[in-house]
Amino acid sequence: MRVAECDICKHKFMTIESVRAHIKEKHPREAQMARINFVDINAIHTGLMKTDISAPSYYTSGSIETWDFIIDKHLDFLEGNIVKYVVRWKEKNGVEDLKKARVYLDKLIKEAEKVGDGS
Ligand SMILES: [Zn+2]
Repeated sequence: MRVAECDICKHKFMTIESVRAHIKEKHPREAQMARINFVDINAIHTGLMKTDISAPSYYTSGSIETWDFIIDKHLDFLEGNIVKYVVRWKEKNGVEDLKKARVYLDKLIKEAEKVGDGS
């Protein structure tokens, strides 16, 4: 999957329009010569990619970015979301994020039991 990246701060976006808007807003002085890169990533199924949200600090703290971890481990949508919410809960939405993680975990358990992967 191809995403657009701001050449100045390396934040990634789903659409080229989002990058243009971002550059205008965040780098007005460099806007004329700012370049837009295209990066191949394979993270769409993780649910981590959202327009205008690329790699906020709560996903990048530590030695590996959360989505890179999710890709590396070949986690699916449900697994990826559990990791996403658990990683960010203290810095973002608190217990609300833990409850969201639980929703995805419950769904994952249900799906696993359906196909007989559960014990
Ligand atoms: Zn930027």
